[in-house]
Amino acid sequence: MDGIGMSRRRFIELGRDTAAVTLATAAVPGAALAQTGGRPVARGRPMPDDVSLPSTPPRSKRSDSVGYAIVGLGDYALNQMMPRFSQSPRSHIAALVSGNPDKLRRVGDAYGVPADARYSYEQFDRIAADRRIDAVYIVLPSGLHADYAVRAFTAGKHVLCEKPMALTSADCKRMIAAGRRANRRLMIAYRVHFEPHNIEAMALMQRRAIGKIRFVRTEQLSRTDPSSRPVENWRIDPSLAGGGPLEDYGIYGLQAALYLTGEMPESITATTFQPANDPRFAQVFASVASQLTFPSGAIAQLMTSYDSSGSNIAHVRGDTGALIMDAATGYQGHKMRLEGRERRDLSLGDPTVQFARQLDNFSDAIRDGVAIRTPGEMGLRDVRLMEAIYAAAETGRAIRLTPDGRIPR
Ligand code: NAD
Repeated sequence: MDGIGMSRRRFIELGRDTAAVTLATAAVPGAALAQTGGRPVARGRPMPDDVSLPSTPPRSKRSDSVGYAIVGLGDYALNQMMPRFSQSPRSHIAALVSGNPDKLRRVGDAYGVPADARYSYEQFDRIAADRRIDAVYIVLPSGLHADYAVRAFTAGKHVLCEKPMALTSADCKRMIAAGRRANRRLMIAYRVHFEPHNIEAMALMQRRAIGKIRFVRTEQLSRTDPSSRPVENWRIDPSLAGGGPLEDYGIYGLQAALYLTGEMPESITATTFQPANDPRFAQVFASVASQLTFPSGAIAQLMTSYDSSGSNIAHVRGDTGALIMDAATGYQGHKMRLEGRERRDLSLGDPTVQFARQLDNFSDAIRDGVAIRTPGEMGLRDVRLMEAIYAAAETGRAIRLTPDGRIPR
């Protein structure tokens, strides 16, 4: 075995869909999490420090607006997504689900959510009887996505789920099956597919603005606070975060490699790094680097880390030019430059429209049946590829994939 704190072999087993459980069975320190039947459970946390709530509740929307229950009132929900509902004409916040009564009260009051539409995690299944709720938006730690999605479908609601869709392909399949059984829609909240620079980058690559793609390089790098402990930071707890940076941040680089090349990889090699004696990385990887080879011959090198100075880039080099995206996939501050025959800087408007346009797509899918740009099948595809990355790192060999990204048995 490899001698690291977390079993990489476990990822390979999961990659082969042999286990219908998450990494909750990995060693999780003491009372870090309440566990039920080997799976992590949702629990309340205090309000993040840096939240600004609306001073007046948003005004009511048109009559066919989709009512969302926000599940998990953490940093991303409170600071990014909830304020953007006001920019999506057909989406509104109808209910809240949180384990912290103080947060439920303060956030509920600020957003004008009625007191009887504020639920604790224990009361979650009661949403079935709440006709104000059409859809559930799951913004919980990643290891909780699958269970809450299945429960939401069982309650007859549509599901918008944050990335990564789940920690295992088995859980992704469970979510998709539950959605089909309930005849409800499932979308993965890959906001970048609604961001103007990334949309234009996809179009440029499709029309061969830099010729044939030869190389893609992505870096999604950040540094975890050295004082972090799993009990306070779910991102370094494998039952909630899987292997760590790849599922959380590297997934953007993986996605970019796919939507920029327009291909699925046929082979993957990878390396993981987990330093000894660093409590932050006792159970998750510090860094993951992988190389994907595509049928066209294009090669993508993806780097992601929780222990590096920050970077968020996607560079594509073709046989006649290059596309440089820096920052590539953030909330804002995107910059994009085309080199070669069509050399120019591309400024394509406000990246922050991505949040509301994502909501528009899901609400239109629910009301009018339009196609979802980022469906559950895309989330499953990406989780399968991440499993293949871990399998490649574990074996030290190239993993060859089927055209839909599976590891052949
Ligand atoms: P966060 O820690 O700020 O918030 C997590 C929320 O879940 C908190 O309200 C917390 O109370 C609640 N929670 C319930 N059970 C918990 C448990 N057992 N342990 C810890 N917290 C628990 O995290 P976040 O940054 O808001 O991330 C939430 C989800 O959103 C994740 O799936 C993450 O991948 C995703 N996310 C997406 C983006 C994006 O750009 N699309 C950005 C950040 C986060």
